[in-house]
Amino acid sequence: MRQGNPRERRRRPARASAKRPGSADDRGTQTIPALDSRPTLEAPDDAYLWLGAPREAAVDWSELDNPDRELVGRAQEAATQTYAPYSMFAVGAAVRSKPGRIYTGANLENASSGLSICAEASALNTANAAGDFAVAAVAVVGFSFTEPSGASRIVTPCGSCRQLIVEAAQISKTDVRVLCCNAELTSIAISTISELLPQAFGPANLGVTHQWPKLRLELEARVNQLIDLRQKR
Ligand SMILES: [Zn+2]
Repeated sequence: MRQGNPRERRRRPARASAKRPGSADDRGTQTIPALDSRPTLEAPDDAYLWLGAPREAAVDWSELDNPDRELVGRAQEAATQTYAPYSMFAVGAAVRSKPGRIYTGANLENASSGLSICAEASALNTANAAGDFAVAAVAVVGFSFTEPSGASRIVTPCGSCRQLIVEAAQISKTDVRVLCCNAELTSIAISTISELLPQAFGPANLGVTHQWPKLRLELEARVNQLIDLRQKR
């Protein structure tokens, strides 16, 4: 999640007056309703509808198999490492690689807001740094830690993170499963990245998925050369 939950931002109190200079209201021909009386754009309570997923798609933690239970549990636990003094919106993510290892991340905000890093991005980065970028599944849990009432809403990866997951998916040649969870893990919507970001542009469009294994070997050989040179000094 980037910069907290956009649905939370929509809830900021509206300003008392909706009048704008030069509006039809000023010309006395039309009355613009006060912002407070306009239809809200707030998400429905069963917010996984924002996924476009059917209601039946959400399951409880107890309905998952053991590997998925561990994955979403690790995402939930990772939320405690969030640094979110601005949005107060905690997000934990967990990535499971094809070999079954799990890597976690939490959102990292910054006073320069555009620099904030999402939990999913952090977890993917950790997996890659461990040399284990063959991603099979991603879980994400998010909630406002100052507004407990929001804990029942499912959180989904932002657009940027979906793009990052597409990259991992195309490299690993796997339609990565994405488990989007509420804080309590009582409502979990399970999708694949191709459903969350259909017709995505990714490394396959540039042929990189074929080139990368060879390039990766070249990279490793070059780093080993550098290490040998260092050790001979
Ligand atoms: Zn994100």
